[in-house]
Amino acid sequence: MRVRTDINFIKSYCEDYGYELITTEYKNQKQKLELRCPKSHLYSVTFNNFKRGDRCTTCSGKGSGFTKLDVQEWFSDRKCELVTKEYMHQKQLLDYLCKCGTPMKNTMQRLRNFSKDPYCLKCRRSDAKNQRRDDANELLSKIWF
Ligand SMILES: [Zn+2]
Ligand SMILES: [Zn+2]
Repeated sequence: MRVRTDINFIKSYCEDYGYELITTEYKNQKQKLELRCPKSHLYSVTFNNFKRGDRCTTCSGKGSGFTKLDVQEWFSDRKCELVTKEYMHQKQLLDYLCKCGTPMKNTMQRLRNFSKDPYCLKCRRSDAKNQRRDDANELLSKIWF
């Protein structure tokens, strides 16, 4: 008879460390479990490695926290283009193009933590202007109709 590690055991084990188990089905020891760390980063780890002390890769600064694809998507969602070919970690200085085509440099860490968008100063200013104009138009339409 095989002793199985129960999903509920894993769940409470992770919770003892402040980690939330996202995976709902435990199949075997080699399976990677999806966990959410106390700071809400998602990462995956096998239960054995977790027991050995492998914690959130983003918090420990070991891993990138994102894959290259995540980073590419993050930029393309904002109409920017990632120029850097090799994404290694979130403290790496990345080359990218702003949505207007201006070459920019920044790290993923700074972009994610301190800026709400990756745009150049010019774009930010004109976005703010458009926003004000939209607000004004909306106000006018309320007055007149
Ligand atoms: Zn974390
Ligand atoms: Zn721009």
